[in-house]
Amino acid sequence: MKSKAAILFEVGAGLEVREVEVQDPGPGEVRIRMVAGGVCHSDLHVMTGHLEAPVPAILGHEGAGIVADVGRGVTSVKPGDPVIPLWRLSCGSCEYCTGGRPALCAAGTQIRWSGRLADGTSRFKCDGHEIRHFAGVSSFSNYTVVPEDAVLKIPEDLPLERAALLGCAVITGVGAVFNAARVRPGSTVAVFGTGGVGVNVVQGAAIAGAEKIIAVDRLESRLDAARRFGATHTVDATAGDPVAQIRDSTAGKGVDYAFEVVGLPALMRQAYESLAKRGMAVVVGLIPTSAEVTVPALPLIYEERVLTGSLYGSAAPKTDIPKLIDLYRAGRLKLDELLTRSYPIEDINEAYAALESGGTLRSVVTF
Ligand SMILES: [Zn+2]
Ligand SMILES: [Zn+2]
Repeated sequence: MKSKAAILFEVGAGLEVREVEVQDPGPGEVRIRMVAGGVCHSDLHVMTGHLEAPVPAILGHEGAGIVADVGRGVTSVKPGDPVIPLWRLSCGSCEYCTGGRPALCAAGTQIRWSGRLADGTSRFKCDGHEIRHFAGVSSFSNYTVVPEDAVLKIPEDLPLERAALLGCAVITGVGAVFNAARVRPGSTVAVFGTGGVGVNVVQGAAIAGAEKIIAVDRLESRLDAARRFGATHTVDATAGDPVAQIRDSTAGKGVDYAFEVVGLPALMRQAYESLAKRGMAVVVGLIPTSAEVTVPALPLIYEERVLTGSLYGSAAPKTDIPKLIDLYRAGRLKLDELLTRSYPIEDINEAYAALESGGTLRSVVTF
């Protein structure tokens, strides 16, 4: 089947919208007609080489669509079902899957680093050449093929352009608050980087009942967004040391939780340095492949500080995303406010330029 898709042929070269051939779904696979693909920073990190991924590849790891057809043995979804693809494949039976941490399943690692499905091949071709999958999703294609285990059926009445954002931005941010940090009511929180995922950390902290939520960013537009999602204080990172500003607004104590949502070692250190005693810093931003982080070691013991990370919201997406949908319906989770624009797939590079400059919080491409 022919499909329009945004392909990264070479790191640094931007995306090219081309016609690709999408093969039929194999056994245990699902072909989805994507309706919306989320414009997330992680794809940009791949485009710039900040994050490694096999290329040429169809990028996009967040989206929503309708099941077009299914391969042999697929039972959980059928043609016509609205679905979200999940960017971390899980087998459902290993110790991590059964222990509530499916993002750590080896099946997801294999598909992420090979860009190929479980049988070692890709379902995409362009001009007769293999094009790899990205994160097992490739939502920047009108049609994509994903393993059944990476598909979540969603309610029929959810607008797909908004539902798309549940699959990465929302679950990654809110999940980090609830599953990785387990933010307690009345606590203090700092969030470094308040783009599409960062504002979801902010709103997760607000839902969890944090008393003080300090947003840190270099862009006024992102600090404004953070206020709309529940930040009680903002720190302009261009106006002096953010750590000092955070300590100032916490009577010198520091915060109970700090989230780094950019993926920069310097900010991970700042997050750690802004902690109170027994505080926890959680790295959510995807880190450059070769990055290392250095922090003063003494507070690990004398203040019992914790530095950790969170992959895919440390969540069990198949049970957690339906709970997020309930929160949205109850008016407690902001989703409509998160989507600031939609672009035709042809304008995807423009969509990324707007994301980078802070002109959009979260946008989607449509087909
Ligand atoms: Zn993402
Ligand atoms: Zn598993």
